[in-house]
Amino acid sequence: MALRQVEGRFGDEVRSIRKELLALQAHVEVTIDYPEHDVEDVACQQVLTVGEQLLGRIDQLIASAALGRVLREGVATAIVGRPNVGKSSLLNALLQRERAIVTDIPGTTRDVLEEYINLRGIPLRLMDTAGIRETEDVVEQIGVVRSRQSMADAELVLLVYDGSQPLTDDDWALERETAKMRRIVVVNKADQGVRRDTQAWIEGLVARGVVYLSAKTGEGIDALADRVIDVIEQEIAMDMDASYMANARQTQLLQLAKQDLSSAMDSAAAGATLDLIAVALQSAYAQLGYAIGEEAGEDLLDEIFSRFCLGK
Ligand code: GDP
Repeated sequence: MALRQVEGRFGDEVRSIRKELLALQAHVEVTIDYPEHDVEDVACQQVLTVGEQLLGRIDQLIASAALGRVLREGVATAIVGRPNVGKSSLLNALLQRERAIVTDIPGTTRDVLEEYINLRGIPLRLMDTAGIRETEDVVEQIGVVRSRQSMADAELVLLVYDGSQPLTDDDWALERETAKMRRIVVVNKADQGVRRDTQAWIEGLVARGVVYLSAKTGEGIDALADRVIDVIEQEIAMDMDASYMANARQTQLLQLAKQDLSSAMDSAAAGATLDLIAVALQSAYAQLGYAIGEEAGEDLLDEIFSRFCLGK
């Protein structure tokens, strides 16, 4: 439902931009054909002023593609941590069903496992990564490389620690590696009690928002879900309500429209002939039309005769 609503808004916004573009185009065309109607300088100035506003709106539409991707593909969320901290168990707890293979042999999750969950209406693409650690095992190394890749691709990282154990070099390395990423620090195995030194170290680094939980008993999973939703709403899909969304093809057409509009503005600024500007505006209008499945047709003539007092 959210998807359909946002798609409708996208169409509305493109139509509204096109309307202004058409008015601008009509102004330019009329100045070409009926020079007594307006002077060229005024038309050029108009192209620059209105063009600037429209460019900003097109940019916003292009930026909104990120939200579209989130709704369609889910927020790419990587669960990372050294082997055996409970990543697979956490994935299972989140999925509330058994899907990942849980074992107590470190390094047995060797590939990246993907699952989709719907967290209070927001789709998440959860990636359970192989534990990241220094290893001599060739197969495990491949897993580690893939884990790093999915960590790099992720929009959100759940960094998992085992609160019942002292921290290791791998734990420290992962903290540094994810420091600049959007992450939520999770301390697992809270049912076994959290070691003071482990807790002090983690809280010293991450002042706010450490989530203590037990993947085994399920305690704290809701708090983690709350945090995840908070982060997505505040940082990823900042203005979900005000957003539109463009798919890949539409984004491409928006880029083309932007190029055309920019070149019309460049021409206007350089004092090029109005014909040149008109052609570029027309092309921008057409590109935007393709993005919503509408052809240009007779729009321009209709616009000219409805706006300007001219005999046909
Ligand atoms: P991974 O290698 O990080 O994916 O870790 P696993 O999910 O395979 O878990 C490793 C071991 O820790 C398994 O024996 C789990 O049963 C155990 N484990 C995972 N989460 C918890 C927890 O919250 N509490 C306790 N007591 N044990 C857990």
